[in-house]
Amino acid sequence: MRRPYRSFAFVLAVLGGGACCRAAELPQGVADTAAALRSGALAGTGAFDLVRSLSHEVGPRLAGSPGDKAAVAWGLAKLRELGFANVRADKVTVPHWERGAEVGEIVTPHPQPVVLAALGGSVGTPEGGITAEVVRFADLAALQAAPEGSLAGKIAFVDNRMQRAQDGSGYGRAVGARGAGPTEAARRGALAFLLRSVGTSNDRIAHTGATRYTEGVTRIPAAALSNPDADLLAARLAGGQPVRFHLELGSRYLPDAESANVIGEIVGRTNPEEIILLGCHLDSWDLGMGAADDGAGCAIVIEAARRIGALERRPRRTVRVVLFANEEFGLSGARAYAERYAADLPRHIVAAESDFGSGKVYRLSSRVAPEALPRVAALAGLLAPLGVTQGDNEAGGGADLIPMAPARVPVLSLDQDGSAYFDIHHTINDTPDKIDPKDLDQNVAVWAVTAYVAAEWPGDFGRAPEPPARR
Ligand SMILES: [Zn+2]
Repeated sequence: MRRPYRSFAFVLAVLGGGACCRAAELPQGVADTAAALRSGALAGTGAFDLVRSLSHEVGPRLAGSPGDKAAVAWGLAKLRELGFANVRADKVTVPHWERGAEVGEIVTPHPQPVVLAALGGSVGTPEGGITAEVVRFADLAALQAAPEGSLAGKIAFVDNRMQRAQDGSGYGRAVGARGAGPTEAARRGALAFLLRSVGTSNDRIAHTGATRYTEGVTRIPAAALSNPDADLLAARLAGGQPVRFHLELGSRYLPDAESANVIGEIVGRTNPEEIILLGCHLDSWDLGMGAADDGAGCAIVIEAARRIGALERRPRRTVRVVLFANEEFGLSGARAYAERYAADLPRHIVAAESDFGSGKVYRLSSRVAPEALPRVAALAGLLAPLGVTQGDNEAGGGADLIPMAPARVPVLSLDQDGSAYFDIHHTINDTPDKIDPKDLDQNVAVWAVTAYVAAEWPGDFGRAPEPPARR
């Protein structure tokens, strides 16, 4: 029997939320179970073991690679082992790019090898590599301001340094040069493109990530220099003498390959057709072990859902875990999911993705119908003891949720502290030793409470307003 609503939960909700409005009243039974999930997860979870297992037993898993295949098998086996229902692999076609060998060196005036990494999707250099004079630009805008033809026979170098921030916003400001830089440089005649790593580490490691070429513009090889090597190159250029650089990239495209979205469910007690989607991405870049990006996210959502499945009484709605294929190099899995389940998207009550490493969650943002904000406030109240406050209602959610936005699937965003994330993100240092298991436990607590409340609480989040414009 359900006890009558109690004002305690209501007061808690008002204190914790408060950013928007009066919090909606939570049924006491829901609040009690949420509190039990919260304290249970804080006492210790299996999330770190999952990250370590994926990092060590599979490791790098770029779309189309043997690691990608192994990751799909890992996901299926883990979800089955942990008691999920309807475990399946939905086929996804993915591009297959391979890094190959990479060499960079300053040739003159003072020869010195540098550490660099090809940008994801870069073409390789011709046999023997490219040797040419380097021209530096402070940022993408400066490159775009250079006249047509001014880089003929040269290598363009964009030297913009990413700024550290709790919300990771420095990444968004710097990453534009990675996507558009090679095309902008090629339009001005450049033979190759160099970029200061879009990362905050001062270690001698380079940061990869996807670039994109524009149809009809020459595709030139593109690589990121480690921060210390970008410092070196900038200092040499500041010396006033011409600086010649040698670049060799063995990158190439192979035929498209097969991958899969791996899915498992905690089937709803009374409304199984209504979906609470918890996402992460199963692929990773090839340099590290994909521990923080996105082994952590997968571990968090799997463990949170498992804990909900282990409750004495499963929630009313289905909690569906989706380990998306190929987020990093074109959102193939996310697009395939939105297409395959298009008819079901109106019954996706809410979606959330964990894809920001392992830092603690500090804020609950949303993109829900405005009239559902009191429900978000109530949820924020339940998360307040975990250090979470309520953010705005303009969350984009994770990248894999983008293809669902036109169907106006409501989004909850459990924003993590990303202060240290870009020290390791997309680098060889993305290994599990960088993760604090206690931080993962806090994440699991937040996710378990959020997913449980969304799955059990009668009512919903309406339909989301139009998504915000994205860079
Ligand atoms: Zn990611």
